[in-house]
Amino acid sequence: MLHQEQTKENLSLIVAKFGGTSVADYQAMLRCAQIIKNDNNNRLVVVSASAGVTNYLVRLGQENLSIEEQTDIIEKIHAIQLNITQHLENSVEQNLNSEIASLLDELSTHALKQSQHHSIKQADAILSFGEQLSSRIFAQVLQSVGVNGAYFNVQQVMKTNSVYGKAVVDIEQLNVACNEFLLPKLAEQVLVTQGFIGQDGLGETTTLGRGGSDYSAALLAEALHATNLSIWTDVVGIFTTDPRITDQARAIKEISFGEAAEMATFGAKILHPATLIPAMRQNIPVFVGSSKEPEKGGTQIRQKVASNPTYRSIALRREQTLVTVKSPAMLHASGFLAQVFGILAKHELSVDLITTSEISIALTFDNPSGSTQSLLTSTVVKELEQLCEVTVEHGLSLVAVIGNGLDCAKGIGQAIFQTINDTNIRLICHGASANNLCFLVDEKDANGVVEKLHRELFV
Ligand code: ADP
Ligand code: ASP
Ligand code: MG
Repeated sequence: MLHQEQTKENLSLIVAKFGGTSVADYQAMLRCAQIIKNDNNNRLVVVSASAGVTNYLVRLGQENLSIEEQTDIIEKIHAIQLNITQHLENSVEQNLNSEIASLLDELSTHALKQSQHHSIKQADAILSFGEQLSSRIFAQVLQSVGVNGAYFNVQQVMKTNSVYGKAVVDIEQLNVACNEFLLPKLAEQVLVTQGFIGQDGLGETTTLGRGGSDYSAALLAEALHATNLSIWTDVVGIFTTDPRITDQARAIKEISFGEAAEMATFGAKILHPATLIPAMRQNIPVFVGSSKEPEKGGTQIRQKVASNPTYRSIALRREQTLVTVKSPAMLHASGFLAQVFGILAKHELSVDLITTSEISIALTFDNPSGSTQSLLTSTVVKELEQLCEVTVEHGLSLVAVIGNGLDCAKGIGQAIFQTINDTNIRLICHGASANNLCFLVDEKDANGVVEKLHRELFV
């Protein structure tokens, strides 16, 4: 039997995560299976749903969907998965197809119930099917290339609270369960498990938030004391900015935990914002690379790196909400901020950026449309209005310039703002962190701003 101490001393244990595009179709899954096969240290595989499936499931979990719409969505998901299984050997294909059919029956029962009586609990159950399907299929693809791979239900170890749509993992339980239950199995087989999903104390399915498979993989790597975490995606590493915004973006060879965490937090979609927290706690190096072009290498994220440039990257987070609260009572008064934050804390709202003046405070909130709950509800606004005048603005984007020593470097204000002096800057945050300078711009200006800044700071 394999124990944690043995693992640390004798074996390298890599947790490998494959995102949606990496498991989108048969050819993509086959490439991932080769990656696993090529390095025997890859022991635990965490997969996302096949590309597009979670978006279908989000629609399926919505209120008031007709039976026709439900059937149409489920058929589309079915087609994506059958497209993969048809390439497998006959008997394997048949067994898998019947497993898939019974999972989809279960899914349509959930969908029917959801259309009659909508709940966020049911929405999570629905969302979990993408990873349930892809993990079963990928385990078979692994076997087809000669790897002793098996499916593992992550809900046995990933216990969470009951905050559906954004569940919090019980790390203590995860650590114990991984050591006692998962680690011994990894000595025998490569296990394929689901990212993104968990289970609460009532036995109900929960999810960790969109893009959460990266975080699941990092938590599992931490609990297993893995030697490395590999995040396989559709780009050859972390770039100086989102390569979809500018073709001048270039891959970064190595980056520190601190900088990469800032990038993830400030919207670089490449990593879920919480991914690096478990890796940093255990000092587990993280690799980010492309499952399409593994030979091209990727980005190494480590505690310490050789170079610490002033400018490392630019991240962009869309769909930001800016709330300005204003009250003359704030003038020379104390306790006003505590009252405002008291209300936000009661509603479990987390604030990103803050600026203050004599009688007003501006606060930003992340408000992605893919999230199951709208964060800034009218209840919150009404409660704030009891205290002060409230203005809510939508349609903004947060641009974050990430680097090192930004709090004490000379000339960065000029370099950044001169470059974009034809754009209205709605709010600026600088000074709290050596690793970032952030500001808000109108959504329509965002891509142009990032492009111009990238040209100025990186080319
Ligand atoms: P996966 O499905 O593998 O989790 P995601 O779509 O979540 O993949 O993340 C990969 C995408 O992140 C890339 O295709 C890229 O467009 C985007 N991205 C945003 N910022 C960056 C960045 N700084 N470097 C690389 N990719 C980025
Ligand atoms: N499948 C989930 C999503 O699309 C989780 C993930 O891929 O990380 O959000
Ligand atoms: Mg992702």
